[in-house]
Amino acid sequence: MIVLPSPFSEISRVPLMYERPADVEILKRLTTKLSCGATFWIKRDDSNSGLAGGGNKIRKLEYVLADALDQGADTLVTTGGIQSNHMRQTSAAAAHLGLDVALYPRDLVPSNETEYSYAGNVQLNHILGAEVFPVDTTEDKVVEILRTRGKQPYLIPSGASLHPLGGLGYARAAFEILEQEKKLDVDFDTIITAVGSGSTLGGLVAGFKLAENRGLLSQKKRLLGFSIGYRKADMTDIVLCIARTAATKIGLKAEDITEDDFEISDEFLGDAYGVLNTTTMDGIKELARIEGILTDPVYTGKAFTGLLSMAKSGKLTTGTVLFLHTGGQVAMSAYPQMK
Ligand SMILES: *Cc1c(COP(=O)(O)O)cnc(C)c1O
Repeated sequence: MIVLPSPFSEISRVPLMYERPADVEILKRLTTKLSCGATFWIKRDDSNSGLAGGGNKIRKLEYVLADALDQGADTLVTTGGIQSNHMRQTSAAAAHLGLDVALYPRDLVPSNETEYSYAGNVQLNHILGAEVFPVDTTEDKVVEILRTRGKQPYLIPSGASLHPLGGLGYARAAFEILEQEKKLDVDFDTIITAVGSGSTLGGLVAGFKLAENRGLLSQKKRLLGFSIGYRKADMTDIVLCIARTAATKIGLKAEDITEDDFEISDEFLGDAYGVLNTTTMDGIKELARIEGILTDPVYTGKAFTGLLSMAKSGKLTTGTVLFLHTGGQVAMSAYPQMK
């Protein structure tokens, strides 16, 4: 059972994940293969929910959609790249709660593959009943159309990150991880995740800070995010801002969080957001072939490749490392060049 400190515990949340915590498992064969001194574990947030494949946006939406329901909204409005996992998870959560969903995708990725425009998440959005507006329709236009239909739209920013409650899902995940550490008798000194819009890492930063503040942390954790879009300086500012916003909601002060509470690397983002390179393909295959676990071409494949590179270049020589698998595998069919 996850026990959150007050006032965090009083913030309403609509359950969208499985009732049990997302699995934490040791990566035994990978640890042996790398033999770098560190032990590797994985948290399976890629299979945290029964809703359309699950993933990290479902965890954030537990708080965001509680607010949407509270406000009497009937239509969720959100955006992302054409193959956005966030749009797919929002579509699934909307269906689950009996809400409509309107998507206005943006063309963020230069892709030569025709599959990019219809396979993967795009296909699933249609199956899930989302209304998909033409690429680059503005949010204002979508809202105007919905209002003329008499709908009550609820706006969710890309990745739910800049939503005032966007960081709370992963702040709660920090407490879930602490519970699992107790149960498994392990203490993760490093947690590694992909970072896109920032509230996965930002939420974790706020959550672990609250735990530290309440004396629940035996040692400060190293929280490392591999950026898959923004350069390091910009990503650092975004994560800091999100973590501080979350902090003020859960019982901390904004100033309790500083840049020293997390690290960002942009070394593995490749050419650009959503553009797959051979280094990432090799990383995806390495994990797949040694553990049977699939990552994705946009986020987790790049972050995991970063982890592998650190392990192989002597930058992870001791301790227990947890890789947060945030999902995204359903985008794979939009990347047929990945063979
Ligand atoms: C959105 C996403 C991320 C990044 O999470 P942010 O909270 O946006 O930084 C990582 N992995 C996957 C699979 C995602 O869909």
